[in-house]
Amino acid sequence: MEEIFYRASLCILIVAFLMIRAPSVMRASRTKKVEDKKPTRERFLVALNFVGMLGVPLIYIFTPWLDFFSLSFFEFIRYLGIAFFVTGLILLIWIHKALGEHWSMMLKLSDEHKLISSGPYSRVRHPMYTFFYIMVISTALISANLFVGVFGILTWTILYIVRVGDEESMLLEQFGEEYQQYMDRTGRLLPKL
Ligand code: SAH
Repeated sequence: MEEIFYRASLCILIVAFLMIRAPSVMRASRTKKVEDKKPTRERFLVALNFVGMLGVPLIYIFTPWLDFFSLSFFEFIRYLGIAFFVTGLILLIWIHKALGEHWSMMLKLSDEHKLISSGPYSRVRHPMYTFFYIMVISTALISANLFVGVFGILTWTILYIVRVGDEESMLLEQFGEEYQQYMDRTGRLLPKL
């Protein structure tokens, strides 16, 4: 298949991701939040991930500037990337539906925060972070571009490592024993065996 097919597919998948996210982003901007953890650090890391997940892939899609880093992947690997991304988007719809108004781009607790532990949250504590791994890995496979892949996976991993511990401490402080029990029966990114 021609390179243009993969660029167009990735573009459509990114637009679909933004469309799935849009209603939650708009709702979150209207919801009152009481606690905002480490706003400067969070803003910096989120901005870095905008570059890694959207900026760099868009440069790959629309310009030849990153062609130097292209790798020769088997076609089926790039197809696999498309299938993986589509599966991730279906999961993302389910995750947003379950988390509802409790979603936020940065670390926050809303006025009437409840602990969600059903649907995708029943066995995994951070299914949305699992989704972001699916997104950066499938973007790497579809683009077959070393720079796009490494930059996306690296920037996401930095945000994940820096944030996840603080997020759990914040929820533990808020929900106490309920969150402790929830932690005992769930895995962070994948279900506990
Ligand atoms: N880490 C989760 C949620 C990402 S959105 C995931 O990967 O699916 C980030 C916000 O979700 C955090 O600010 C936190 O307040 C909220 N949050 C995380 N886990 C939650 C849960 N189980 N129930 C309710 N809110 C949660």
